[in-house]
Amino acid sequence: MQGLIPVSEIFYSIQGEGINIGKPAVFLRTYYCNLNCCWCDSKYTWENQSKAKEGIDYFNLSPEDLIYEIAKYPCKHLVITGGEPLIHQNSLLKLIRRLKEMDYYIEVESNGTIKPLKDFLDLIDCFNLSPKLSNSGIEGRRRLKEEVLKLFTSKDKTYFKFVICERKDLDEVGEIIKLFSIKREKVILMPEGTNTETLNRRSEWLIEECKKRGFRFSPRLHILIYGNRRGL
Ligand code: SF4
Repeated sequence: MQGLIPVSEIFYSIQGEGINIGKPAVFLRTYYCNLNCCWCDSKYTWENQSKAKEGIDYFNLSPEDLIYEIAKYPCKHLVITGGEPLIHQNSLLKLIRRLKEMDYYIEVESNGTIKPLKDFLDLIDCFNLSPKLSNSGIEGRRRLKEEVLKLFTSKDKTYFKFVICERKDLDEVGEIIKLFSIKREKVILMPEGTNTETLNRRSEWLIEECKKRGFRFSPRLHILIYGNRRGL
């Protein structure tokens, strides 16, 4: 429905990944994604999307409803995540404009495959873009969109977070940052994993690689603290 936003969940937690790690934040998770990464930890936002039902898989909420829900929490930092939130950027704009008037800091997590509208690009405070590598199981032409990535690269508020499974993934990161002229200080490497054991095992060598290559490392703090549970 026009103007309504399909929402998977809203919750209050701390940002567990990326440049704002550790900050208390309200999370707005939208439903639907245009990719289907094999290791996705929020498959509930897209796995059933061809036959998804409102009230079961997602809730259609108006910007007014969402402001009411978001403002319940004692925090003016909002993370819009998904799924892929840019699918809904037209509908989200009204909400974002209103929240900016209310002095919210808004960050968006995106897979970087959908071109942002000018207003959307201008209003958001921080983009956590996560272009997918071949370890996602997605073919290159679906996961890397040159025009979109170049547009985001031109904005200082964009950070690029790559999900790393194996050492060879670092060669791909190197190729992508060269191809799209992404500055090294904007790159964040994060181990893939949905349990402490996998994350710790991968973090050990990934931290050493970050030290060698001058990239920022990000843990998955929410998984380490809460495990792979929804709404935390
Ligand atoms: S882009 Fe993100 S939400 Fe979509 S399938 Fe990949 S990891 Fe999951």
